[in-house]
Amino acid sequence: MNSGPGVKTSPDYPIPDTMKAWVLGNPGELKLTQKPVPVPKRAEVLVRIDAVAICATDLEIIDHGPPASIQGGMPFNKNFTPGHEYMGTVVALGPGVDEYRIGQRITVEIHAGCGQCKRCREGMYTSCHNYGLNYGDVDKGHRANGFTTDGGFCEYQVNHINTLVAIPDAMSDEEATLVVTAGTAMYGLTELGGLVAGESVVVTGPGPIGLLGVAVAKALGASPVILTGTRDNRLKIGRELGADHVINVRNEDAVEAVRRLNGGKGVDYVIECSGAPNAVNDAIRMVNRGGKVCLAAFPHQETPVDVAHIVRNNIYLYGIRGEGKTATHRAEAFMSQKRFDATKIHTHTFPLDDLPTAIRYAKDRVDDAIKVVVKAKGVAAHRVAAE
Ligand SMILES: [Zn+2]
Ligand SMILES: [Zn+2]
Repeated sequence: MNSGPGVKTSPDYPIPDTMKAWVLGNPGELKLTQKPVPVPKRAEVLVRIDAVAICATDLEIIDHGPPASIQGGMPFNKNFTPGHEYMGTVVALGPGVDEYRIGQRITVEIHAGCGQCKRCREGMYTSCHNYGLNYGDVDKGHRANGFTTDGGFCEYQVNHINTLVAIPDAMSDEEATLVVTAGTAMYGLTELGGLVAGESVVVTGPGPIGLLGVAVAKALGASPVILTGTRDNRLKIGRELGADHVINVRNEDAVEAVRRLNGGKGVDYVIECSGAPNAVNDAIRMVNRGGKVCLAAFPHQETPVDVAHIVRNNIYLYGIRGEGKTATHRAEAFMSQKRFDATKIHTHTFPLDDLPTAIRYAKDRVDDAIKVVVKAKGVAAHRVAAE
């Protein structure tokens, strides 16, 4: 690293000048290149990336572009490195940083807002009004690594200290990559009101956020927690993470089954993680009058919604983006106290050099893959380490 003034390093963690980094070329095309190791500025640290998980949103970005936005446009052929669910070790401190120490293990959340707009001041930094403005004469200092700035499919990255979450030694690298996923579920429940002990919750869609949504809702004391989906193997994991009931929507009508399982009544909350075409209309019929629905999936098409039913029944809809209001710290607290075992959704680990294979496993759900992790070190090439 070509260290700038005031940057602290340690001989215990030597830092090279260049690193391996995957970059996005044309849609769907990733190339392994060398990039300079970035230098931390004020309020930033340099993280040696020890593990990075692949998210469905990475697959969207690599194939289609949005929600990534680089220099105000599509992310293709801009030397952009995707990847956002990573963890690692702090190896250099930017000027003035004393909140973290070199050698400390951390995981990251994605969004460092500008810190000065109305929403950042409210803790809603995932909805920063200066989203993606980090270049040229509109540089507001916003960073969302893997979305608007370089991300984690490489060996080192700079992170604002506000995006760091300290983790205990007992938490594995793979588990630590899942903190931000659990944090997204935690943010959804936070925005719904947070006090869900004794309240009934349905989670629709057993993807990573849905499955950890079950775990977080249960850890917060929700009862009953009901999970719906189409794959029995994932519903089984949902049960292991605390779902009181699971519904395979291929076998029965989800709305009727939810009401039957909740004593004939609608539930208090639905966390919609499926993005299915009729998911919103199903969700508003699963909740009771005055109930709340959290929308956490990005559907591909515009969705017709029965607005009259929403208004007549005073139902609240919340669109949730990412992991605001330091929800990641609360999720990490549950995980380090072993309130649930997030590693149940980690299925495969590949070396960083094999990222295209790892992406194929995640995208095609090869071998029932759920969360696929890549690591720069400590994984033998072409070895599939299923847990
Ligand atoms: Zn993600
Ligand atoms: Zn902002």
